[in-house]
Parts: sequence; C-alpha cells; structure tokens
Amino acid sequence: MGTAAQPWETEPPGGQGQGRQSPLGNKAPWASRDSNYDCGVPECLFCGIAAGDVPATKVLDSERTIAFRDISPQAPVHVLVIPKSHYPNVGTLAAAGDGLLDEVVAQAHKVAVAEGIEDRGYRVVFNTGREGGQTVAHVHAHVLGGRPMAWPPG
Ligand code: 5GP
Ligand code: ZN
Repeated sequence: MGTAAQPWETEPPGGQGQGRQSPLGNKAPWASRDSNYDCGVPECLFCGIAAGDVPATKVLDSERTIAFRDISPQAPVHVLVIPKSHYPNVGTLAAAGDGLLDEVVAQAHKVAVAEGIEDRGYRVVFNTGREGGQTVAHVHAHVLGGRPMAWPPG
C-alpha cells in the first residue's frame, strides 16, 4: 500500500482538532468553565458534544439523539450517533428499555439515507468495552460506508 492519505483519512474541514486519543484521559477543559453543560457525566466528551459545548460537525439532530462526523474518519462516510443522555455502552442503553436504543439505530439508518449510502450498503457498529475497541464511554453507533467493508474486522 502507498502512503498517500485517502480522502477520509484527512481531518474534515473545520475539524474539531482533538485527534484520536482517549478523551477519558483528558481532564475535560469544557467541564470546568461556565456553560450550558448540564447533562450526564462532567468529564464525558460526548456529553459535551450533546450539550453543544464541544464543537462537532452535526449531520442530524432529534429530540433525544445527535449524529455528527467522526473526527478521525475510517471511511468516506463515518458518522457517530449518540443518545443525548449518558449511557456508558450499548448494554446499559438496551437495559433502559425506553426505546432510545431503537431511536439511535433508526437515526443511524437516516444518516445512511442522508449520506446516500443506503442502497450500496453500510455498517453500524457499537464498539463495546476494552476488547471491543471502545475508547469513549458514552454509547455511540458508528455509521460507516462509502467503501467496501472487510470481514472479519480487525
Ligand atoms: P470508539 O473507539 O469508542 O468506538 O469510538 C470513538 C470515536 O470517537 C472514534 O472513532 C474517534 O475518532 C471519535 N472521536 C474521539 N474524539 C472525538 C471528538 O472530539 N470529536 C469527534 N467528532 N469524534 C471524536
Ligand atoms: Zn456522556
């Protein structure tokens, strides 16, 4: 493989500039300043995005969910869908049993439609826990598409 960056490997215009690092390792700068931050766990990056305190490139918004572009896209389309309220992972969201998991998955489908990848196919992934590759402990569905996906995943 050559070393030229694929289009989805470069940061999107207006990228949010934090790179792929564990946000849980940072003492969240937005948590200590005055803001409208009022949801979930103060040090949670995605609660910060849901509250509008951390910039993100929004794709879709609903009453209980938000979809925004991944800061480090792994495919031409790479969007994250989160519930605005804090759940650590898909299991805890499922256990809540209030239809929010359904909304997150339905929103993932709407993202695929909006991004024009519904017909050719796409992947929805909930990385869960350490061995599942989860680095942000606020449940999120990755919506990936715009290129063929390999199986099994790494
Ligand atoms: P996980 O590794 O937990 O499955 O996925 C976390 C995702 O969040 C990663 O794909 C990572 O690139 C993305 N991410 C980490 N920090 C930020 C950020 O500040 N903004 C955005 N938009 N995405 C982020
Ligand atoms: Zn959170």
